[in-house]
Amino acid sequence: MPGLYIHVPFCRSKCGYCDFYSVPGAGDAMADRWLSALEREAGFYLGFRADTLFIGGGTPSVLSSPQISRLLVLARSFAAGGSFAESTIEINPGSLDADKAAAMAGGGLNRASLGMQSDSPRVLDTLRREPGDTRAAFRTLREAGFGNISLDLMTGVPGQTPEEVRSSLRAALELRPEHVSVYPLEIHGRTPLGEAGLAEDPDGAEAAWRLMSGELGEAGYARYEVSNFARPGRECLHNLNYWRGGDYLGLGPAAASHFSGLRYATEPDLEGYCAALESGRQPARSSLESLSPRQRAGERIMLGLRLAEGIEAGGPIFIEFRPELEKLLAAGKLEREEGRLRIPGKDLYLSNSVLSSFV
Ligand code: SF4
Repeated sequence: MPGLYIHVPFCRSKCGYCDFYSVPGAGDAMADRWLSALEREAGFYLGFRADTLFIGGGTPSVLSSPQISRLLVLARSFAAGGSFAESTIEINPGSLDADKAAAMAGGGLNRASLGMQSDSPRVLDTLRREPGDTRAAFRTLREAGFGNISLDLMTGVPGQTPEEVRSSLRAALELRPEHVSVYPLEIHGRTPLGEAGLAEDPDGAEAAWRLMSGELGEAGYARYEVSNFARPGRECLHNLNYWRGGDYLGLGPAAASHFSGLRYATEPDLEGYCAALESGRQPARSSLESLSPRQRAGERIMLGLRLAEGIEAGGPIFIEFRPELEKLLAAGKLEREEGRLRIPGKDLYLSNSVLSSFV
């Protein structure tokens, strides 16, 4: 079940912790130019069909309604059988309006991922993140017909109190989303927060994750991946394909792709991306790797063990790493159930120590 990812490389302003590739305040003309380049890039993948679509960034919701409609015409041309099983767009509450929501739903999108992060203006201010009204954006999406909405929450923000964590979760649950993601803040060196000497709070992030895991479970959301919780049947199909080691094609600058053992990413350079495609060339790649069977198996295990379903206890990927997996089983760091291996739920948050065996 291959997936299609489209990277929208624009944001209104840059958040203080952001390490993703995006150009702040680029304007309409640049977005039109990027769309034309994207249409040319799509021409290099004639014949590729996908079951799921994920439009991320950046901030896809900074595009205008006509630009969103144009992007969705292009995206739909990749849909296996004429429509995607799931098609998601990432949205920042501050850049959504009713026209854009209508263009998104009218263009065939059926899932929205809303970057709430926190309901505390103080936390958003620490993150240097543009404030927005999540409640209003959520209502706008529902009114446009979105029946599948995910909210992102952030933990481990310097100074974030347990009460701020609880209050954000309460505010999120009041909206009754179908899916919730809980991500710990990571501050990288070359971001404004990193340069200001701020550090994430890993203990606070772990405490918040444990608190949220418990409350989300009681509210009917099952944890199906370390950071992701869903009502039954509302797991993100696009990301499940990624975690299960499936193929995906990424379009746009900085987008990553993974095809039958080949992994590559397009150079994070909007100007270079547009210029290459305008002169009929494919955009430059920042990496191109051919994975050995052992690397591929290691990656499948690392991604699969992040999932509550774990990995199959058998088959080629198991055999490649049999001694490592048996050692972890003997140490109680993995459990075996119904032919599958998984990290015990209580240890899932600290899974990195287990996963390092497969690098
Ligand atoms: S909205 Fe997302 S992509 Fe844009 S600057 Fe903020 S974190 Fe980065």
